[in-house]
Amino acid sequence: MHNFVDSMGTVLEHYHLSNNLYSITIELLSHCNWDCLYCYFPERVDILPYNIVIEVLNDARKLGAYEVVFTGGEIFTRDDIFLIIEYARNLGFSVVLMTNISLLSDETIKKLSELSISSVSCSLFSIDSHIHNTITQRKGSHEAVMRNLTLLRASGINTIVKMTVLKLNYKEISALQSFCINNGYIFKVDVAVFSKLDGNRHPHTLSLSNDELDSVIEECDNINGYEYYPERDRLEAFVCGQMRIALSINPKGDINPCNRMPFALGNVFSDSICDVWKKSQMLKKFTNAKYKDCTKCTSCSCIKFCVRCPGNAFVEDDGYDNCSTLSEKIAKSRIRVYGNK
Ligand code: SF4
Ligand code: SF4
Ligand code: SF4
Repeated sequence: MHNFVDSMGTVLEHYHLSNNLYSITIELLSHCNWDCLYCYFPERVDILPYNIVIEVLNDARKLGAYEVVFTGGEIFTRDDIFLIIEYARNLGFSVVLMTNISLLSDETIKKLSELSISSVSCSLFSIDSHIHNTITQRKGSHEAVMRNLTLLRASGINTIVKMTVLKLNYKEISALQSFCINNGYIFKVDVAVFSKLDGNRHPHTLSLSNDELDSVIEECDNINGYEYYPERDRLEAFVCGQMRIALSINPKGDINPCNRMPFALGNVFSDSICDVWKKSQMLKKFTNAKYKDCTKCTSCSCIKFCVRCPGNAFVEDDGYDNCSTLSEKIAKSRIRVYGNK
């Protein structure tokens, strides 16, 4: 695993040094058929027109991109979703779908299998349907996910189950992990709850208290394969490896370094992603930023345990190079839990 991660790191750094884009995330729309309590979209009305999506895909191909991630909102509420996926596959992209899977059916899963998509990543909040449906605020959403997970497994499509960990479901991690192991799904957990993209902090009322976080942090780190390197010199590390090889387009057309970092480097209605990728000085600044460039990090006692999110710092903490209070909360939990190990 370690060797694989190291070699993937080398491949991705090669993409960066060759000035090639590795991955593009396209948020096809903000509309969704669920209404999750913690959702970071402040409104769910925007949709990227088909012709613009096609233009972005063509430009991403020119930039040498390997992977396209389609996400939303809920991508399967679009009538043209299969045309878009097919176009991306015909251009040779590895296609990753982030979807709540509730709208899939036997027939659409068969189509996805025929299109040889790389993976489907979906949200499941609990094995308990009441907890899941409370978070999505949709009756029947749990039943739809469970039914379609079975169909995805039968079709042989790689499926990743992601659990956002909230006050409402943090005691459910082990049960969900066992379910995924027993059924062959990859399982990931996320304890980071973000403000809405307009800075509204309401989702934080759902996030774990320090005591609750301490009770699950080690389990979550084990599940996600977090590597604890107290000896590593974090100051020389880049603040976000992903931003060095990726771009993200939001449903309004803004070209962002990441979908969690709403800093518009341009807009696909008027700018080409090729120009932004090759010429944006701001993007260069973000991608080259290291921990040592963030003043607060250089003297921080949490640094060995902190995985900074510049997007979160940008939205919640007045600047991508400021301390991310969310990253700090998680780092402090690791210190309390791992401190003496
Ligand atoms: S499934 Fe995703 S986009 Fe839809 S409401 Fe939930 S968090 Fe928001
Ligand atoms: S806790 Fe804040 S200041 Fe410390 S390393 Fe993390 S982001 Fe930097
Ligand atoms: S660390 Fe933050 S900014 Fe970087 S890819 Fe992850 S969410 Fe985006």
